[in-house]
Amino acid sequence: MFKLILALLICFTPALAQKKVCFTIDDLPVVSYSISDSAFQRELTTNLLNKLTEHKVPAIGFVNEFKLYADANVNPFQVSLLKQWVDANLELGNHTYSHLDYNNTSLNTYGKEILKGEVQTRKLLAARNKPLQYFRHPYLHAGDSKVKSDSLERFLKTHQYIIAPVTIDNADYLFALAYHRAYVKKDQTLMSRIGADYLSYMEKVLHYFETLSAALFGRNIHHTLLLHANLLNSHYIGKLAEVYARNGYEFITLEEALRDKLYETPITKFGRWGISWIDRWALSQGKGNDFFKGEPAIPVYINELTK
Ligand SMILES: [Zn+2]
Repeated sequence: MFKLILALLICFTPALAQKKVCFTIDDLPVVSYSISDSAFQRELTTNLLNKLTEHKVPAIGFVNEFKLYADANVNPFQVSLLKQWVDANLELGNHTYSHLDYNNTSLNTYGKEILKGEVQTRKLLAARNKPLQYFRHPYLHAGDSKVKSDSLERFLKTHQYIIAPVTIDNADYLFALAYHRAYVKKDQTLMSRIGADYLSYMEKVLHYFETLSAALFGRNIHHTLLLHANLLNSHYIGKLAEVYARNGYEFITLEEALRDKLYETPITKFGRWGISWIDRWALSQGKGNDFFKGEPAIPVYINELTK
C-alpha cells in the first residue's frame, strides 16, 4: 500500500511542479511618473533587478527607446539603466519607440516606430551576442481587424520578431500610480497598505487566469505575466515572486513559456481591446460573458487615489 501511495506521489508530483510563469516587464528603462532625478531612477532599477536576481526570475523587459533620448541625442544615463538589465543577464524586447497605439495608427507608421525603437536595444544585446527577437504591443493592441492584425504579424515576421503575448493581464499600473502618489506625499502607512493590497490582488488575478486556462484548455498554460518597471514593482517584485512560488510556480524565460503549444491556439476574433491572450482565445472559441465572470476587482480606494 505504502509503495502504491509512493508511486502515485511520484506520478503526480511532476504535474504539480509544471506550473510555470515568465515575468515580462514593460515600459523600460523606468516608469518614473515624471521624477527625472537620476538617483531615484537608478535605485528603482537596481532594486527591481536585485530582487529578480535574488528570486532567480529570468524576466524580460520591453523598451520604449524614446526614453533614451534627450532631444535628438542619446542620453547615456538612460542607456546605462538599460545596460543594467543586460548585465543582469536578462532579455530585452521592443515595445515601439514611443509607446504607440496600433488602434490609432496605420501599419506604415507603426512599422517605422518599431524599427526606430530597436536601435540602442539591439546594440546592447549585440554586445552580449544576443539577438533582439521579441515584440510587445503597447496597450496590448494587436490589430482591431483580421487584416490589420495579419499585416502587423507579417511585418514582425519579416523583421525577425516574435510576438510576446500576455496571459496574466492585470492593473499593476493603477496600484503603481496610487503607490507613487503616496510616495510623493511621504505617506509610508498608505504605501504599505497599497503594497499589501497589491499582492493580494495579484494572487487573486493569478487564480482567476488559472481558472480560465483550465476551463478553456483543461490545463494551466505556461503563463506570461504583464508588469511595469515602476516604483511599486521595484519594492514588491520579490514578494510577488514569493506569491507565485507559494502557488507552485517555477520561473522561466519567455522562450520556454512560448514553447507551450497552447500559444499556437488560433485567434479569429478581433477588437480594439487590450486583453489577455486567454480572453482572445476564449472569444475566438465563442465563449460568452459567463466565461469571464469573477475577474478580481480593484479596491475602491485605489481607483479614488488614481483619479
Ligand atoms: Zn507599455
